[in-house]
Amino acid sequence: MQVVKEKANAKINLFLDITGVRDDGFHEIKTVMHSVSLFDSIYISREQSKNTEITLTVSGNKFLPCDEKNLAYKAAKLYLDTADIKCKIKINMKKRIPVAAGLAGGSSDAAAVLRGMNKLFNRLFSVKALYNMAEKIGSDVPYCLYGKTALCEGRGEVITKLTDTLQLNVVVAIGKDRMSTAKAYSALDEMYPYLNETKGSCEKVKYDKFISCLERNDLKNIELYNIFESVVFPKCPQAEQIKSEMYELGALCAMMSGSGPSVFGVFENFEDAKNASKCLKEQNIYAFAAKSI
Ligand code: ATP
Repeated sequence: MQVVKEKANAKINLFLDITGVRDDGFHEIKTVMHSVSLFDSIYISREQSKNTEITLTVSGNKFLPCDEKNLAYKAAKLYLDTADIKCKIKINMKKRIPVAAGLAGGSSDAAAVLRGMNKLFNRLFSVKALYNMAEKIGSDVPYCLYGKTALCEGRGEVITKLTDTLQLNVVVAIGKDRMSTAKAYSALDEMYPYLNETKGSCEKVKYDKFISCLERNDLKNIELYNIFESVVFPKCPQAEQIKSEMYELGALCAMMSGSGPSVFGVFENFEDAKNASKCLKEQNIYAFAAKSI
């Protein structure tokens, strides 16, 4: 039996701004995402059958659903439905990416399943067709199909690839305070009511400065940005403390990722990142060192 193995990498947001709210209530975002070496492992196999049957087993996180609520399951089902194929699919997931932390673990799992299924079925679908399926599953899934460094706009699905040479050594850390993505978005709407009328970036100057440093690999002068910090930090003070601590531990720059509460720091080299991660762990903070992929 053929088993396809895929890596589902975590992402961090180096820049994240909200540029408006659409009539359908969705937020327009402008974000630069970057894939890092922490990953979930996904194994997919298929067997012939007259009926479709998808079995998902997850190790490493006993709270995740193993049915249609899991984005990996959803992706496999969507692939089979789109291809109009009936068969048995087994997915085995080894979960390492912290859940609901702003690291797009679920989206990355879904993207990995789409890539893996396409290998299992001898590249039945084009890159564009996979992208269309990804978009139906979630806004971050199209980015996760390709990863690396990319500017994502619209709801996150309009992707422009950026520099391929960025090599970061990061520490990602997560405190105990939590705020759901939905709450973070409604807090943003309250804090920035003018977003409803805005068209175009609120922080264009910031973005232009950021992108010019990114293209020059100038990590000492780069100013990362995440609009969500303004609403998440007051509710999750530990996330803000972790950010300060990253600087104390020698980070060149640090920022919250996505809608939080994970925070990452960028370090000069991997040795420094590992040392900083060790210091945070000694304080009972969940932390790991990772590199760009
Ligand atoms: P993003 O950065 O894209 O906002 P996130 O890191 O904040 O994502 P995820 O880890 O993807 O969040 O999980 C968000 C929700 O999705 C959780 O409530 C979880 O139950 C659900 N979920 C469904 N499938 C998965 C999966 N395979 N892995 C993680 N979460 C999943």
